[in-house]
Amino acid sequence: MPPTSKLNLRLPVDLKEQAEALAQHMGLSLNALCVMALRSQVPYLSRTYRPPPVVPAGLQAPTAPPSSAPAVSRREHVPRVALNAPCPCGSGQKYKRCHGAPGVR
Ligand SMILES: [Zn+2]
Repeated sequence: MPPTSKLNLRLPVDLKEQAEALAQHMGLSLNALCVMALRSQVPYLSRTYRPPPVVPAGLQAPTAPPSSAPAVSRREHVPRVALNAPCPCGSGQKYKRCHGAPGVR
C-alpha cells in the first residue's frame, strides 16, 4: 500500500448517503469509494480545468461587474468513473455496462 495521509471531509448529507449506499453495494469502504472517485476525477479535471487568468490588481477595470457564477463546472452531472473504464466493482465489464448503466446505482 502506498503512503497515505488522512483527510477530514465534510460531505453534504445526501452525497454521503448516496456514496455509502454505493460503497456497500460494491463491497467497498466509503474511504475506498472516495479514493476511487478522486482517482477518476482528479486526472480528468487537471486535464480539462483552466483557471481564470490572474489579472494584476492595478490592471482591473474599476467598473468590472463581479462574476456571479463560479466557472468551475459547466456540467451538472459528472460521472464518478469514466464510462469506458473497467467497472471498479471488479466485474470486468465497462463501467457504463455495469454499475454506470442508467438506472443502476
Ligand atoms: Zn460494477
